[in-house]
Amino acid sequence: MDKKKIILSGMRPTGKLHIGHFVGALENWVHLQDSYQNYHLIADYHTLTTSLDTTNVYNDTIDMVIDWVACGIDPVLSPIFRQSKVKEHTELFLIFSMLITKARLEKNPTLKDQIRDLNLQSITYGHLGYPVLQAADILLYKGDLVPVGEDQVPHVEITRHIAGLFNEQYILKDGKKIFPIPEPKITKFARLPGLDGKAKMSKSLGNTILISDGEDEIKNKMKKAFTDPNKLRKGDKGNPDICLVFTYHNKFNPGEVPEIREGCSSGTLGCFDCKMNIANKIKDYFAPVHNKRSELEKNIDYIKNVLSDGETKAKAVAENTMGEVREAMKLG
Ligand code: SF4
Repeated sequence: MDKKKIILSGMRPTGKLHIGHFVGALENWVHLQDSYQNYHLIADYHTLTTSLDTTNVYNDTIDMVIDWVACGIDPVLSPIFRQSKVKEHTELFLIFSMLITKARLEKNPTLKDQIRDLNLQSITYGHLGYPVLQAADILLYKGDLVPVGEDQVPHVEITRHIAGLFNEQYILKDGKKIFPIPEPKITKFARLPGLDGKAKMSKSLGNTILISDGEDEIKNKMKKAFTDPNKLRKGDKGNPDICLVFTYHNKFNPGEVPEIREGCSSGTLGCFDCKMNIANKIKDYFAPVHNKRSELEKNIDYIKNVLSDGETKAKAVAENTMGEVREAMKLG
């Protein structure tokens, strides 16, 4: 049987996740876990690029892992682990930092966007180099594929570049190259817009529905959701194609989409009813996740075990790769 291809995917520990995380990543991870060998990284060191306050990192990690497992990640199939617990990440990061030029990192378009979006006056050496840490994260596990949205493709390019540079410079005694050149695997429904109609759902923008939100929270949030601004009351004709709520129907209520389009365009459907309908559909969609979540919240020791098992498995792979790296570099 062919060896399963390896996928490394991760998130920064941001606490309870929102339904944009589910649509943009988690759902896809669950879908991939039988056909690929997945490793799921909690990128806690990466949080330092934008905040030095680590007070909540541990609790945010636990909350995030609860969401991962509740949404269907099987930690036995796919190890879940913290970057900071596998020191080989920082070791390989250091070696890779010597290969790539500062000019190449400064060209990274995602970094330019971040500087603009966060209005940063200056950035740290570590922030400039975070795609190098990402390369180490991926290549330690010899990732063949990296699931990303379109905007993350430049990072995979940097990883590919670094893997190529290392392979050119250092090979094992038998002539074997250590690192694969990973390919981006673009997620199909990569981004769910926020409740305010902004392209991205994000906690910092306050426009999210959390996976853990109950019926009342979902309905209250949905009442404020952005719709066609020209449709003020039932009877007005609307344009569903510019309405955020319609995007959510497309994702969570596809069966009723033709009917909703017709009702909105003709004016027979009012926005309040349309919003309460999708709020109910989102509640139903996540009901099994909520049930699993409440079990897991009562058993935090299980979540701690998920982390320690995942870290043991990840460490074994990472140590093996670093052994090869040291051999190829003749470091003994
Ligand atoms: S009826 Fe529904 S789809 Fe149409 S504008 Fe209102 S919320 Fe949007």
